Amino acid sequence: MNTIVQHLQLVHDRITAAATACGRREHDIQLLAVSKTKPAADVQAAYAAGQRQFGENYVQEAVDKIKALKTTCPDICWHLIGPLQSNKSRLVAEHFDWVQTVDRLKIAQRLSDQRPVHMRPLNICLQVNVSGEASKSGLLPAQVEALAEQVTELPGLRLRGLMAIPEATGDREKLGAQLLELKQLFDRMAEKHPQLDTLSMGMSNDLELAVACGSTLVRVGTAIFGSRNP
Ligand SMILES: *Cc1c(COP(=O)(O)O)cnc(C)c1O
Repeated sequence: MNTIVQHLQLVHDRITAAATACGRREHDIQLLAVSKTKPAADVQAAYAAGQRQFGENYVQEAVDKIKALKTTCPDICWHLIGPLQSNKSRLVAEHFDWVQTVDRLKIAQRLSDQRPVHMRPLNICLQVNVSGEASKSGLLPAQVEALAEQVTELPGLRLRGLMAIPEATGDREKLGAQLLELKQLFDRMAEKHPQLDTLSMGMSNDLELAVACGSTLVRVGTAIFGSRNP
């Protein structure tokens, strides 16, 4: 077995253990393999082991991989989890299945307009800035409902949930508080928007905590593909 396959198994074991520890079912938590900066061959190795959802941060790099893998890995579900500038929105609308980083109406409108009619609506998560750090992208929690209402009206998009990149802190209590705040916001939103089924939070270092706080999709890069050299 190669390393990526072994690492994938370890990550699945971690998810199972975390789910069991808090009385959740492992099947309610999906794994997004974050393959940014890694070659298409690494994606293919994970695919061969059954992994189907992949996350990418950089649009052009991702589109190159998506095209390269189109015939050998036809049923990959590609998520954009990096920031999106409007001049790249067409490429994204034409190649991705999900965009997790929508935080303004203008981008949402462009993605909807540019989504090819023969493709299914693009799945969307609104990115929330739970830590309130000024340098971070994402909506403040108080802004989420208004944008959700607007995104729901756009024909090329399907609103699926919320995503957050919490503060990089070693303070587990603080991190847990931020993840729980996002979970509470998600639950309030889901009452009004029953189609919401995705709470994207948790990465290599904090997936157990994220699962305990209600994550339905953990985004894991390093623990599967190894560290990313600059
Ligand atoms: C890179 C990245 C990840 C994966 O982080 P790891 O620590 O390598 O697991 C998850 N989410 C986002 C938004 C990222 O940019």
